[in-house]
Amino acid sequence: MGFSYYGDCMKKILITGGSGFVGSHLCERLLAEGNYVICLDNFFTGREKNIRHLRNNRFFRVLEQDVTEKIHLACDEIYNLACPASPVYYQHDSIKTITTSVIGSINALELAKKTGAKILQASTSEVYGDPQVHPQHEGYHGYVNILGPRSCYDEGKRCAETLFINYHRQEKIRVKIVRIFNTYGPRMRSDDGRVVSNFIVQALKGNDITIFGDGSQTRSFQYIDDLIKGLILAMNSPDEFTGPVNIGNPEEIRIIDLAQSIIKLTGSRSKIRFKPLPQDDPRQRQPDISLARAVLNWNPEVTLNSGLKKTIEYFRKELNH
Ligand code: NAD
Ligand code: UDP
Repeated sequence: MGFSYYGDCMKKILITGGSGFVGSHLCERLLAEGNYVICLDNFFTGREKNIRHLRNNRFFRVLEQDVTEKIHLACDEIYNLACPASPVYYQHDSIKTITTSVIGSINALELAKKTGAKILQASTSEVYGDPQVHPQHEGYHGYVNILGPRSCYDEGKRCAETLFINYHRQEKIRVKIVRIFNTYGPRMRSDDGRVVSNFIVQALKGNDITIFGDGSQTRSFQYIDDLIKGLILAMNSPDEFTGPVNIGNPEEIRIIDLAQSIIKLTGSRSKIRFKPLPQDDPRQRQPDISLARAVLNWNPEVTLNSGLKKTIEYFRKELNH
């Protein structure tokens, strides 16, 4: 679909969840690449200040709307990111969370059907649940507790993948499913509740570092810039490539070692305090990224150490305001 008013080569891109942590970086990058960007958000976990610096760009528009309401606009591409990602926020109103993933995906897919837009789903490593296969490759079907406290998020995201692939098969929509692994960086909320922001804020404030369980569980953390590159490469991959594709950094670390790294990098005097492990907390997680390497020519570039330093700088400034 051409937009002669803005020039035929300018793509109009909708980002649902565009004022959140990932979404705001994506808005920024896609604007810098010369696109017209529409950020649709209900500001549940997203913040106006994440996108304030983009507000006077005339090719940027903000639409305060819930993704569970029908979307009426013209666009060439859709990134469907709307959904709280931190367990603290997604368990706050579990029914709303699953509704956002399922009804939100249907609304975004219906818009893609009407406009012919290409559409990307921000899926998650959580579709693998507490994985029995390590590292996790895209062919693994996962081990999710259907009834557990994380299922409002995990099953919502699994259902969204099912919707995406069925809209592709039945309606010939061009879809991309990206399974995002734990991502961190500037613009996470200080009260986000996920581990990297929690530990950094606790360390900078000199509060106890709260480790859930004994800290032997593992995660693999990727820096935001690597994810943004991966998302854009996935969107621009050949039409026949639908994914799912894992995007994550295979550098795996135990949570206790993450705590120690953050204490060292911040020069903090915080002590470690152990708290109960939440139910169904995955024991281990590491992406197999062979597919992303082969099809997208994507590789994470930012080491955990350098990504943490940048994120610590961000939170230092945030907390001084
Ligand atoms: P976030 O919570 O910072 O951002 C989510 C955004 O969606 C927020 O701006 C929020 O206000 C918005 N939103 C939530 N419900 C909405 C609704 N009903 N209608 C409209 N907007 C709504 O989280 P994030 O880390 O930026 O994650 C973005 C996406 O990436 C999510 O879909 C998440 O599931 C996925 N993801 C993120 C990670 C990660 O580590 N950051 C990992 C896997 C998947
Ligand atoms: N975690 C922790 N302390 C915190 C927050 C989280 O030990 O203050 C643990 C959590 O139990 C999990 C890991 O860190 O084992 C990653 O948690 P997060 O919520 O960031 O991501 P997810 O579990 O969704 O991968």
